[in-house]
Amino acid sequence: VIERSIRSVSGRIKNREMTIESHCPAGLTVKGDPERLVQILVNLLANAVSYSKPGTPIRVVASVSGGMASIAVADKGIGIPTADLPRLFERFYRVDRARSRDSGGTGLGLSIVKHLVDLHGGTIFVESEPGKGSTFTVNIPLSHS
Ligand code: ATP
Ligand code: MG
Repeated sequence: VIERSIRSVSGRIKNREMTIESHCPAGLTVKGDPERLVQILVNLLANAVSYSKPGTPIRVVASVSGGMASIAVADKGIGIPTADLPRLFERFYRVDRARSRDSGGTGLGLSIVKHLVDLHGGTIFVESEPGKGSTFTVNIPLSHS
């Protein structure tokens, strides 16, 4: 799922001198719909690309934590002011319309992500610092098969 998601956004990072690195423990499996899991990661990766400068790295790191798979998407982009974090997952919410106008987004991506994560019985949270970057962490229940 991680590899498919990265391949799916690879067109966006061409000519931007950006790299997406990933790490996932062998055999880590989650309970979920693969198409929807890809949709979650593609949205987070597309944001990481849109709100970062060329030449900065993006990292996807999966691990196991508290009986869940934890997948973190980290960028070294423009970051998000603390005051905006509580509303970030609302429909149509965008931090700065003027700043992000050229990226042409609608402000729906993260609300869809949150909805899909909830449907999986998972959680999502964000840590961010303006000028330093953002990390979105998705927790999805492990599969026990
Ligand atoms: P779209 O509907 O095309 O995804 P969008 O990217 O503007 O449009 P969201 O993905 O919901 O909408 O993100 C909401 C807002 O959160 C963005 O407009 C941006 O201001 C901020 N944001 C999201 N991800 C990041 C990130 N990785 N770094 C900095 N800001 C971000
Ligand atoms: Mg988006």
